[in-house]
Amino acid sequence: MALIVQKFGGTSMGSIERIKQVAGRVIKEKLTGNDVVVVVSAMSGETNRLLDLAVKMGGRQDNMETDLIISSGEQISSGLLSLALKNEGYDAVPLLGHQVRIATDESYGKARISSIDSENIYKMLKNGKIVVIAGFQGIDSNGFITTLGRGGSDTTAVAVAAAINADRCDIYTDVDGVYTADPNIVPEAHRLDVVYFDEMIEMSSLGAKVLQIRSVEFAMKYGVNLFVKSTFAEGKGTQIKFLGDDKNMEELQVSSVACDKDEAKISIRGIPDKPGIAAKIFSRISDANIVVDMIIQNISVEGHTDLTFTVSKKDLKKALEITGGLAKELDAKEVISDDKIAKISVIGVGMRNHYGTASIMFDVLAKENINIMMISTSEIKISCVIDAKYAELAARILHDAFNLGKLNG
Ligand code: ASP
Ligand code: MG
Repeated sequence: MALIVQKFGGTSMGSIERIKQVAGRVIKEKLTGNDVVVVVSAMSGETNRLLDLAVKMGGRQDNMETDLIISSGEQISSGLLSLALKNEGYDAVPLLGHQVRIATDESYGKARISSIDSENIYKMLKNGKIVVIAGFQGIDSNGFITTLGRGGSDTTAVAVAAAINADRCDIYTDVDGVYTADPNIVPEAHRLDVVYFDEMIEMSSLGAKVLQIRSVEFAMKYGVNLFVKSTFAEGKGTQIKFLGDDKNMEELQVSSVACDKDEAKISIRGIPDKPGIAAKIFSRISDANIVVDMIIQNISVEGHTDLTFTVSKKDLKKALEITGGLAKELDAKEVISDDKIAKISVIGVGMRNHYGTASIMFDVLAKENINIMMISTSEIKISCVIDAKYAELAARILHDAFNLGKLNG
């Protein structure tokens, strides 16, 4: 008998009918003789609706009231699933974050889990119950409700799996696994049987929406046996695992292409080129809780340089206010911005063993006359910022150039 954590996303929980289907999946697992803990998201669209209400009342991401409001979607969906299971004659128990005791820090809107009371869960499993946990929420040391960041139910699931030492954590979603590219953009994209943790972390941070990045980091840290599967179709799904001795995939130069249209770029032009300037600019930006992604600095001409960086589109306005002020203070020439950009990336652990990945990528883009505005690399990925209008085209030609259409036959 194994201990399984199953997580169902918003689309899977999107209606009464779908929740009944989810109950069917849970029961199927239970009938194999396994103990089952289920983690659920809010019904699709619900968290956005709640967030909108909070914002209309002046709530911000970091207000405890906002967390209280937006956490309620999971309260409803966990109750509904527990009812659906009971209707089928199974003994279920719905639990909120504070009832499990998922303890977090106090950073509302993006709280980090510090501990989970596994004894509580074990006790209920021992009594034969299917434990249904509301994802996305926790409780801080003062007893206030917190949330774990958008998409945070994935993190709840993985953290619960780690805490109770589950044999497997299955993330059920509306796609049947992790794909070589977004199939809506690249028709030849297909499911990967295996993705390595390092790759999945890059993919999640580069625009693939399938798993919240924090959940992948958590799973990697605690060695959770993680799968992505479809709620609505049978199939093996995708296993996310350690590379370990598995050298097969390293044969492959690139295993996926990701595309992110959520960033904007800012350039400060004609800033004096002297020590401390970059430190000043980026500390101001981080003080405003804005995360900077790519940065490039041009070579200096007559004691002046240009600095370009990208931020998430939602932070553009705030970042422009800050850089506008700084430009005056530093006597820079001007600040310009562009929100019609896309970051296109190729990812793969095999890159470590292959030469020339970058040159193939640049060559492919050049052949289509796509200009590269910024480049960043790591050991296992290369990202280029390009004009947003070429994003889909770039994804397709890169997918093709690295033979991803032919993968797995
Ligand atoms: N309901 C939350 C959200 O929409 C958490 C989740 O679905 O994972 O972000
Ligand atoms: Mg999700």
